[in-house]
Amino acid sequence: MSLANGRAYLAIPGPSVMPDAVLQAMHRPSPNIYEGELHDLTYSLFPDLKSIAGTAHNVAIYIGNGHAAWEAALANVLNRGDTVLVLATGRFCVGWGEMANGLGVNVQTIDYGDKDPVDLDQLAETLRADTDHKIKAVLTVHVDTSTSVKNDVPGMRRVLDEVEHPALLMVDCIASFGCDRFEMDAWGVDVMVTACQKGLMTPAGISFVYFNEKANAARGDCVTGYWDWRPRINPEVYYMNFYGTAPTHHLYGLRAALDMILAEGIEAVWARHATLAQAVWAAFDVWSVPGGIGLNIADPDHRSHAVTSCFSESPDGDRLRNWCEHQAGLTLGIGLGRTPADAYFRIGHMGHVNAHMIMGVLGTIDAGLMALDIPHGDGALSAAATVIAKATRGGA
Ligand SMILES: *Cc1c(COP(=O)(O)O)cnc(C)c1O
Repeated sequence: MSLANGRAYLAIPGPSVMPDAVLQAMHRPSPNIYEGELHDLTYSLFPDLKSIAGTAHNVAIYIGNGHAAWEAALANVLNRGDTVLVLATGRFCVGWGEMANGLGVNVQTIDYGDKDPVDLDQLAETLRADTDHKIKAVLTVHVDTSTSVKNDVPGMRRVLDEVEHPALLMVDCIASFGCDRFEMDAWGVDVMVTACQKGLMTPAGISFVYFNEKANAARGDCVTGYWDWRPRINPEVYYMNFYGTAPTHHLYGLRAALDMILAEGIEAVWARHATLAQAVWAAFDVWSVPGGIGLNIADPDHRSHAVTSCFSESPDGDRLRNWCEHQAGLTLGIGLGRTPADAYFRIGHMGHVNAHMIMGVLGTIDAGLMALDIPHGDGALSAAATVIAKATRGGA
């Protein structure tokens, strides 16, 4: 038998669950792209995008996924032959570095493995050794979606300042944006990239590059007309916002998503993600026994609030994912970039997620562990419920 029929739940780390309000906002005929409502709507997005990123600087929108934002960010600030320092804490920063390499940029990598955050002392040592400042930019991910590690971005700024290194600090917030606290200006970030299909709850297709004046002044020779961020932030005519036809329906969807975030308040959005992540971790603290499943990142301060990467004994990761999908209608994420792949799985808890959805995910995993005879401790749901109850005690 199967108990999968009913509303399916995609709990992978992006694309995330789309709110009905976003989908409904997109369900409309094409608007006029030359004047009227679409223009007003578009220009309403920029201040809100900046406010939730904690910046007074610039944001350019690209029609494309996160990879497009990666390339746009690199191309605008780097010259062929420049060097970037990649802080590898999983698959994603490595991928950003490979893209830099494809643009003709030299890549120096510090590999922190797949269970640990960036070590700031080691970063300081590497930057100090770069006495003639060959390194033009430090590339890092705030949250690496493959390992679910969260890096200390303000700590990186402190290190750059302490060793008086002028490199740009460039941060990938594609997984973390709208989930984990991020404050671009207060944290001294020069360039930030993100995309719409994770914490921003909008179908994949538009991405964002934030940059300050220091980054704008860097002006690399890798950039070509389409990727140039300057006309996009200062368009003489409307089409230059996107260098062509606007992503009309995505803009309506994004407007609805931003309205939801602003109505809740970004601090409350971050607090919701923090509590739901703690509920997930509490369940794992109980489940975790030898031969069973566990959390990839040991230190809670370095765990993402958007995604949780988990290990098992091979091939139980695959068995559990398949059981959840086919028996219960819950799709978990694959163990991206890990070997053996069938030992790993990930839980997305980003964006449009609430307490009952997370309890549903955890309850489903609990049933799967029982049904598959995967060793685990009993009482995980109660531990998770306790976290949720404590955080909301006294609430109406
Ligand atoms: C999802 C993700 C990407 C890639 O985004 P795409 O939209 O798939 O191109 C890059 N970096 C991080 C940290 C991500 O989570």
